[in-house]
Amino acid sequence: MAEKDYYSILGVSKDASDDEIKHAYRKLSKKWHPDINKAPDAEAKFKEINEAYETLSDPQKRANYDQYGSADGAGAGFGGAGGQGGFGNFDGGGGFGFDDIFSQFFGGGQQRADPSAPRQGRDLQYQMTLEFEEAIFGKKTEIKYNREAQCKTCHGTGAKPGTSPVTCSNCGGRGYVVTETNTPLGRMQSRQTCPVCHGTGKEIKEKCPTCGGRGKTDERHTLEVKVPAGIDDGQQMRLQGQGEAGDNGGPYGDLYIVFRVKPSKDFTRDGSTIYVNQDITFARAALGGKIQVKTVHGDVELKVPAGTQTGTTFRLKGKGAPRLRGNGNGDERVTVNVVTPKTLNKEQKIALKAFAKASGDNIAGKGGSNFFDKMKDAFDK
Ligand code: ZN
Ligand code: ZN
Repeated sequence: MAEKDYYSILGVSKDASDDEIKHAYRKLSKKWHPDINKAPDAEAKFKEINEAYETLSDPQKRANYDQYGSADGAGAGFGGAGGQGGFGNFDGGGGFGFDDIFSQFFGGGQQRADPSAPRQGRDLQYQMTLEFEEAIFGKKTEIKYNREAQCKTCHGTGAKPGTSPVTCSNCGGRGYVVTETNTPLGRMQSRQTCPVCHGTGKEIKEKCPTCGGRGKTDERHTLEVKVPAGIDDGQQMRLQGQGEAGDNGGPYGDLYIVFRVKPSKDFTRDGSTIYVNQDITFARAALGGKIQVKTVHGDVELKVPAGTQTGTTFRLKGKGAPRLRGNGNGDERVTVNVVTPKTLNKEQKIALKAFAKASGDNIAGKGGSNFFDKMKDAFDK
């Protein structure tokens, strides 16, 4: 895939803020709009600016672009399903887009409702539940779902093979009929969808036997999906063209996979940062040294300094989840919990008493057997 540097197209740095990007886009899109700029390459330039903005203004698309070099994400890595897209938003990215700006600058474009115009099919949503580790490392999987597909017999025309739809005789192919009525205010014209062709402008004389003229059939669709490493609970991925068939030759809609990530018994996660709690002995905390710590990448050694207090947090760089935005992994944060032993054997008890004595801590008290011994005697009986 051709790599374009969206940042240099907009003339901003890689760490530009959303406001900087928006500002750069506003400036450039005004400068290069083909209605204003008559240079021969203005239109191409304008398109490029819009493409760059569309990607960089959407946090998830931008993250994808930063990671994979493409707004559609994973381009090379995805494979299989063909035309799989990146991480999208249902709300279309929010903020202001191309249409908003130019309806302000240029008075907007009229939308003509042409019933016979190609229309994209409906988008579909699929919820996928992942194990904690699957979300971190990604996985390949196959999903199955029902959708409306283009009829394979008539290729969506609805007409019997060998025949084709003809122009509707009732409306002349316009898809609507105009009726005139006399009212006290004068003659009123009203437009109605053509009852014969239902707005398509085409009449099917001989219907396709497979779909009955609908042009679509219900199918059980199987799709191979590559879950990207580092996906998080609630995030979604857009798979272009995997939704339902369009009308009048329009493209398929998209499939949105919404991810749910199950909790882990060992770890918690916030974005690319993973948190873990690790028990350590009182002696290790006091003397310092190496401890074994669980990470999603396997156990690692962590050196704790002498005099470590309970609740202290250490950072294991790069031992977290992969970042969707940018390269590498996040960190793991290890919080140590110094454990007071619940039972002591004889040897430990002697050692601790000696320790207490050396610390000037008079556990034994004055005269006779001490509290520990009394307790022990009580339990041993
Ligand atoms: Zn058909
Ligand atoms: Zn008609």
